[in-house]
Amino acid sequence: MSSGNRMTPNARVLLRQLREVMAEESNAQTRLDHLVEAIARNMVADVCSIYVRRADDVLELFATKGLHRDAVHKTRLPWGTGLVGKVAREGRPLNIKRAHEHPDFAFRPETGEDKLNAFLGAPIVRSGKTIGVLTIQNNSPLGYSEEETEAAQMVSTILAEIISSERFLTESEVQEVEDLVHGPEYQAGTAIVQGIVQGTAYLLTPKRSSGSIFAKDLAEERKRLQDALSELQRSVDDMMARDRALSHISREVLEVYRLFAYDRGWARRLEEKILAGLNAEAAVEQVQAENKAQMRAASDPYLRERLHDLDDLSRRLLRTLRGESSAYELPENAVVLAETLGPAELLELDRSKLVGLVLAESSSNSHAAVVARSLRVPMVSGVETIIDAADDGDDIIVDGTSGEVSLRPTSDAIATFEEKARIRSEQLEMYQRTKDKPCVTKDGTTIRVDMNAGLVMDMAMMDEVSADGVGLFRTELQFLVGRTLPTVKEQAETYESVIDAAAGARVVFRTADLGSDKRAHYMHGPLEANPAMGWRGLRMAIDREGLLRMQLRALMDGAKGRPLTVLLPLVTSAEEVIQARAIIDKEIDRARKLEEPVPESVEIGVMIEIPAAAMSVQRIGQHADFMSIGGNDLAQFFFAADRENDRVASRYDYLSRSFVSLLKRIADDAREAGVPVSYCGEQAGDPLMALALVAIGFTHVSVAASAVLPFKDMMRHVDRTVLAEAMETWLTEVGGVPLRSLVHEFAQDHDIPTLRAY
Ligand code: PEP
Ligand code: MG
Repeated sequence: MSSGNRMTPNARVLLRQLREVMAEESNAQTRLDHLVEAIARNMVADVCSIYVRRADDVLELFATKGLHRDAVHKTRLPWGTGLVGKVAREGRPLNIKRAHEHPDFAFRPETGEDKLNAFLGAPIVRSGKTIGVLTIQNNSPLGYSEEETEAAQMVSTILAEIISSERFLTESEVQEVEDLVHGPEYQAGTAIVQGIVQGTAYLLTPKRSSGSIFAKDLAEERKRLQDALSELQRSVDDMMARDRALSHISREVLEVYRLFAYDRGWARRLEEKILAGLNAEAAVEQVQAENKAQMRAASDPYLRERLHDLDDLSRRLLRTLRGESSAYELPENAVVLAETLGPAELLELDRSKLVGLVLAESSSNSHAAVVARSLRVPMVSGVETIIDAADDGDDIIVDGTSGEVSLRPTSDAIATFEEKARIRSEQLEMYQRTKDKPCVTKDGTTIRVDMNAGLVMDMAMMDEVSADGVGLFRTELQFLVGRTLPTVKEQAETYESVIDAAAGARVVFRTADLGSDKRAHYMHGPLEANPAMGWRGLRMAIDREGLLRMQLRALMDGAKGRPLTVLLPLVTSAEEVIQARAIIDKEIDRARKLEEPVPESVEIGVMIEIPAAAMSVQRIGQHADFMSIGGNDLAQFFFAADRENDRVASRYDYLSRSFVSLLKRIADDAREAGVPVSYCGEQAGDPLMALALVAIGFTHVSVAASAVLPFKDMMRHVDRTVLAEAMETWLTEVGGVPLRSLVHEFAQDHDIPTLRAY
C-alpha cells in the first residue's frame, strides 16, 4: 500500500483507462471494479470507492478498491449520514486529514476503514442532482492537495456522465438514476412578474444532449475546437467593425470581450481538456462549469461581469460546435431559464414564442423585470435548483404570482396550475368591469392613472386597460433592442406611432436613460465599479450632447406639431436641469430657423430618483414643468440597496415609514413650489403602496399596464380622507408595527381589494 508521496494524477492517462474500461467486454460489476482500480492507481490512493444513490435516498457502496469487498452492496448509508452522506447532502467536496476523528464519521465495521486517515469525497452530480459519491482514502494523515481535490472533482464529473449507463449498472438501477435526475422538481423563489404559465424549458446555457464525452480522434477534436474558436473570434471582430460608427463612445467593454475571445489562457484550458481525452463540446462544458462555480462565488461585481462575458462566449462556442446558429431559437411557448439576463438580451428573444422567464438572479425592480412586465411575461428568480435540474424541452410551470416553479410537473401540479390559471383569468375579467368607470375615490378625489410603456406594441394596452395616458415612455428600450444606434428617422417613426396610438392622450417621453445595466450592445462606456451610480441617464446625455440632440430632433419630428412632453432621467441637481433645458431650447430654435414643425407646446419634466434631487424639489421645481418620482432608483439609493440584487433589494421595504416620509416631503415641497408631481416607480403597482401614495397626497401615478385596472378598482373602494388621517398618525407615532401591516389591516377593515395583478 502506498502512503504519502502521492503524485498529481495524470488526467490524460486516467481518461484513456476509463475509456478502456468502458469498452471492456465484461459484466457491469467487473467494469465498475476496474473503474475504481484505475482511479485508485492513477490517484495513488489506498482506497477508492463509488457510492450510488438509490431510490430510497440511501447511498450504497457499489464498488471499492481497498475496502472489504464483502461490503459492496451491503454498506448503505442513509442520506446525510457519515462523511459520504455529508458530501452527498452538501453537494460539494470534502477533504479531511483524520477521517475517524471527524464528528460526522460513521464507522461501518464491514468496510474495515477504521485505519484510514486522509479522506477526499466528491459528489457525483448530474443535472444538479447528487447521484452518488466518489471517495479517495489513504492511510497517510497528510491530507490531499487542492490539485488532488480538483482532480477528484474532474473524475466525478466524468463518472456522472458514464456511470449511469447500462455498462456499469443494471437496467433497473439505471432507471432509478434516471427517475432521480428527471423526476419532478419544485422550488419556490421570488415572484417578479405576475402571471402563471405552462411551457417548454429553454436554457440559454445549453446542456449536453447525452452522448459521448470522449474524443475519438484527438487531432480531429483539436481542429474542431480551433475552427470554432476562429469563427467565434471572427464574429466578435465583425461586431466591433459594425460598431465603428460609434467609435466616439468608448469601446472598452467590447474590447475586453474580444480579449477573452482571443485569450490564450482560455484556449489553453480548453485544449488541455481535449488532450486529456474529452471531445471539444465536453471540454468547453468542463471549463464553463469551473468558470460558473467561480462566478457564483465571486462577490466583486467587476469580476462577475467578466466571468459573465466568458460564460456568454462559452455559450456561443458550444452553439458553433453543435452547428447551431448563434441566435436563440426558442420553441413555441418557451420558458427561458438563465443565470442572469440583461434587458438587452431579453429584448433579443423572440417575443412571439417567449411565455415565461426563470432566472437565478434578478429582482422586482430590475430592468429585466421592467421589460418582462412590459412584455407581460411572468418571471421568477432565485431558483438555481430548477435551472441546474432543467433540460431543454422539459415541461415547466412558472407562477410569477407566488414565485413557484414546477419542473416536469406531476399531474397534481398540473391540476393546481389549471385551477390557478382559471381563477386568475376570472379575476382579470372582473377588472374589465372597472374599465369604463372613472378612477374616483369614495370621497370624490379623481386620480389620474397612466401606464408605463417602452415599446410601440405596448400602446395596444392603453385602450385595453383604458389608461389615462402614458406617464413614462422609456425611450431607451428602442436603443437596447437593436444592434446599432437607431437613426433619427427610426426614432421619429417610433415616437410618431406612439403619439398616434395615444389618440390625443398625453405621452411622457423620457429621454434615453442609458447606462448602468441598460447598456446597448454598441455603446460601451468606460468600465465602472458601480455603474448604477455611474455615468448614466442625464449625466451621459449632457456629456454626449449629440445623442440627446438627435433624440430631441426625432421627438419634435414625431410630434408633428402636436404637444410634446419630455422627461429628464436621473437628475441630481437644478444645474443639470438648466443645462438640459439649454440643449432643448437650442434644438427648438434650430427647428424654427429651419422652418421645421415645432410642437404646439413643450413641457419639460424632471425625474426625482436621487435623494439629492428629492431634497431640492423647490429649487429644481423652478426649472421644471412637472416632476415624476422614479421610486425604483430612489429606493435603491435611499436604502443603499442595489435594485438588481434580490439579496438586498427585497431586504428593505419601500412601504416603510422612512421611505414614505421622504415621498411625503417631496409631494409637500412640490405642492408648495406649485409643480405637479406624479409617481412612476414600479412600486405604485403594489396595492398597499398605492394606498400609501394616495394617503400622502399623490393623485397621479403611472403604473405597468397590467396594474391600471386593479389600481382603479381599488381606489373606487377608498375613502381618501380617512386613509390620509390614518397615515398621518402612522407616520408620526413611534410604533413598533410595520407600516405595511398597518396599511394592510386598514384595507381589510375597509373592504378594499388589494389583489396584486401583475
Ligand atoms: C425608476 O427608477 O423608478 C424609474 C421609473 O425608472 P427606471 O425603472 O427605468 O430606472
Ligand atoms: Mg430610474
